Amino acid sequence: MDVSPFWLAGSPATGDAELTVTNPHDGRVVGVASVPAAGQVEEAVAAAHAVRKEAAGLPIHVRAEALAQVSRRLAERAEEIARLISAENGKPIFWARGEVARAVSTFRFAAEETRRFSGVAQRLDTEPAAAGRLAYVSRQPYGPVLAITPFNFPLNLVAHKVAPAIAVGAPVVVKPAPATPLSALLLGELLAETGLPAGMFSILPVPNDRAGALVDDPRLPVVSFTGSGPVGFALKDQVPRKHVTLELGGNAAAVVLADADLDWAATRIALFSNYQAGQSCIAVQRVIVEEPVREEFTAKLVAAVESLVVGDPADDKTQVGPLVSVEAAERVERWIAEAVAGGARVLTGGGRDGATLAPAVLADVPADAKVVCEEVFGPVMVLQPVASVDEALATANDSRYGLQAGVFTRDIGVAFRAAKELEVGGVIIGDVPSYRADQMPYGGLKESGVGREGLRSAMEDYTYEKVMVLTGL
Ligand code: NAD
Repeated sequence: MDVSPFWLAGSPATGDAELTVTNPHDGRVVGVASVPAAGQVEEAVAAAHAVRKEAAGLPIHVRAEALAQVSRRLAERAEEIARLISAENGKPIFWARGEVARAVSTFRFAAEETRRFSGVAQRLDTEPAAAGRLAYVSRQPYGPVLAITPFNFPLNLVAHKVAPAIAVGAPVVVKPAPATPLSALLLGELLAETGLPAGMFSILPVPNDRAGALVDDPRLPVVSFTGSGPVGFALKDQVPRKHVTLELGGNAAAVVLADADLDWAATRIALFSNYQAGQSCIAVQRVIVEEPVREEFTAKLVAAVESLVVGDPADDKTQVGPLVSVEAAERVERWIAEAVAGGARVLTGGGRDGATLAPAVLADVPADAKVVCEEVFGPVMVLQPVASVDEALATANDSRYGLQAGVFTRDIGVAFRAAKELEVGGVIIGDVPSYRADQMPYGGLKESGVGREGLRSAMEDYTYEKVMVLTGL
């Protein structure tokens, strides 16, 4: 089998070890990634550091055109890339196609945002002491960005960091997840085609025990991390003086109030608790339902969950595929068993076949069960009945996490109240918490993270405001 090279300062390279990538559905080998040697990692970081001034000075049209070209090339190779994502991640091809379409739009929107991201002039003569002075405020990149990404969206989550870095003129060093490096490496081919300066990007599938050195390296002043809380917060503690963005996990709530469109809510919650086999930071985990509609809604929800097509990710019809590994599925199975031992009832699902779990709906779950309090990261949702809007909002807020929440209501007053009171980074009215668009800021409160992504927010995160004052005007 061919070995996929990694990307060292914009060129393909091979290292001193290999990483075998398997399909979680059937265990077959999907590909082999070359792993850089320590000296090559050093070379990549040195190249990013060396090119930082040239990168910051790249004309806007050059950066914008490079991003637009990547977008076009992703669209041209969409099916091939979707098949690779599906194979290395176990993601149903339906969702993998969606992931590529999203990356097409991420790079396209980044190209547009690059053109809008210029400085502003600000008159200072609002105060007598500043008469005759004008400030020009621009944003300058801090320098190279270290992007560390998880396995669950192996293309999108890389795109969310690479596109804004190029947009602001910052070199980027990507460390993809060891389980799913191949999509990132394929993106490297498209980045290399742009002719951006060498050193502008490197993609280094190094194992976790060698990634800490990248985090420590002072030549990478920005660390943009997406992954689990314990790893993310440990990395932040490791480098308290760096600009660190953490996009972490959650146990997202969908609130279904008595006035909601129950059919719509049931369909959406069933799908978005189980898309990506529940392995999304904003997959619906807690379903908070108002008592008057609990029974009717539960019946609709269970029916919607049971209608999901579970199976081979390569099949066009499959909606729910395997988890990332058999171990991950076994862990979720254990958490369900613990909840049941504590009195929970399984209304549907929960059976395991290798790495695949049948989507589960649980009722009467003890409030301190892991499937309620921790991030399940699997196809499991728990029903939490409440008597009022007050209790619904309090229940949603009763969490260590705070990424996004969804509220199904048709009452505009309640919608505004929920948006104000829910302790999360985003409140989605009339839909699941799993909604995300790159045009909007995205990120969490509490243990769900620090800072914001979304193209514009990431561009701001990777840069600082610099003022030039003109005198004597
Ligand atoms: P993870 O934390 O195990 O790994 C994430 C990345 O960190 C991987 O690239 C991994 O190799 C790397 N890593 C692990 N240990 C490291 C170390 N000591 N030093 C440097 N890098 C290290 O997470 P995962 O299992 O790949 O992904 C699942 C998690 O990601 C979930 O908690 C999920 O909620 C979260 N996530 C969050 C978002 C978001 O935008 N908020 C999006 C997707 C996933």
